[in-house]
Amino acid sequence: MVDAGQQRTYEDGELVFAESDAGDVAYLIDEGAVEVFTGHDDQRTVFATLGPGEIVGEMALIDTRPRSASVRAIGTTKLTVISREGLNDRLESVDPMVQLVLHSMLDRFRVAMHRVRSGEEEPAPRRVPEAEALPNSPVNEALRHGVLQQSRMEARLRGAIAEDMLELHYQPIVKLPLGKPVGYEALARWPQPDGGMISPGEFIPLAEQTSLILELDAWVIRRACIDFMAQGNRLRGQYVSINLSGRQFAQSTAFELVASTLDATGLPPERLQIELTEGVVMTNPAYAAELLAEFQKLGISIAIDDFGTGYSSLAYLHNFSADVLKLDLSFAREVRKGPSGARIVRGISAMADELGLRVVAEGIEAEAEGRQLYKLGCGWGQGFGFGRPRPLAQVLADTPSA
Ligand code: C2E
Ligand code: CA
Ligand code: CA
Repeated sequence: MVDAGQQRTYEDGELVFAESDAGDVAYLIDEGAVEVFTGHDDQRTVFATLGPGEIVGEMALIDTRPRSASVRAIGTTKLTVISREGLNDRLESVDPMVQLVLHSMLDRFRVAMHRVRSGEEEPAPRRVPEAEALPNSPVNEALRHGVLQQSRMEARLRGAIAEDMLELHYQPIVKLPLGKPVGYEALARWPQPDGGMISPGEFIPLAEQTSLILELDAWVIRRACIDFMAQGNRLRGQYVSINLSGRQFAQSTAFELVASTLDATGLPPERLQIELTEGVVMTNPAYAAELLAEFQKLGISIAIDDFGTGYSSLAYLHNFSADVLKLDLSFAREVRKGPSGARIVRGISAMADELGLRVVAEGIEAEAEGRQLYKLGCGWGQGFGFGRPRPLAQVLADTPSA
């Protein structure tokens, strides 16, 4: 058993591993060199000679098939062992499409290796010989199935955005304790032909894996501005709050997109709020600080969304000029549970106040909770207790005070 991180020394000609060995580690070459080959003695075919800084045996990190070539040291050689654990965890969290491509590349590489080994000159075998063939293991089947599903859904979502089939629903953001709406958060919805609705929790992560999220965000901003402008004076003094994805925020065109949409639709910048999660802001704090300042200079307000789920640190917030702190709905849940949740909310609200941030408590499910959160220092709130996200016309029909 070879331990990860262990350094091993090999003498000239010593085998590191042999073709068809089982292997679950790779090696990083620290000093010396190795030769990658197939065959024995005079019959050897050398594929490559690798030196310091290069990695060898890496296929074993990705799948569990036998070594496809042998490796031996050239001169005295020092290698550091790299294990599959850790990488496997990361691979499993990778997009299924990337996993499938990786596995397919390995398969093709093995077919090519097989041809070299058998000195084959005829057309390549379409598959690896039976003994070596990649079994249609449940993992691979599941992977293929996942990729197919994802690709289909992606194509449908692309079509839905292009054909303006998505909807925006609006949820009131209210002044506590009385519950008068001050603004509305725009939340995307994907209606299905069967009358059902795919929730953003499902399709936003999918869109975020591809550039589709850029189109989706652009669509949302435009739709929200148009919807608000269409209400004329009805929503005067109230703002619309949109969620901007990390990917959109990272685009050099993000500011231009927002500014030009406001321009084209006529919505005053003061009536637009942009919600960004802590993670998005913290990915590149210097860039974020600059872009936030640009938005605010135009008159747009900035809300930090889902506060408390990521870095949960007010310390970093003074580096950014945000306007609003949206307390993640898990806090409302904690307050429902008991006094320790209440203490945390009181603490965060006091610090936010010091920093000049307005606090919106999310996930308020009853008016009484709103009053309690108000007492704990949250000046504003949002949640099913004050209204579920619905099409704007319906929301307004039920909100005579707006
Ligand atoms: P979010 O920005 O934190 O949005 C609030 C979510 O909490 C919404 O879920 C809303 O329906 C839900 N919610 C509101 N009040 C309550 C409550 O009292 N109790 C409970 N349990 N939940 C409540 P939704 O609409 O399913 O959206 C989920 C997430 O999807 C959003 O979380 C946001 O991160 C993302 N999202 C939604 N629309 C968009 C969009 O247009 N663009 C982008 N980039 N992301 C979006
Ligand atoms: Ca949000
Ligand atoms: Ca939120």
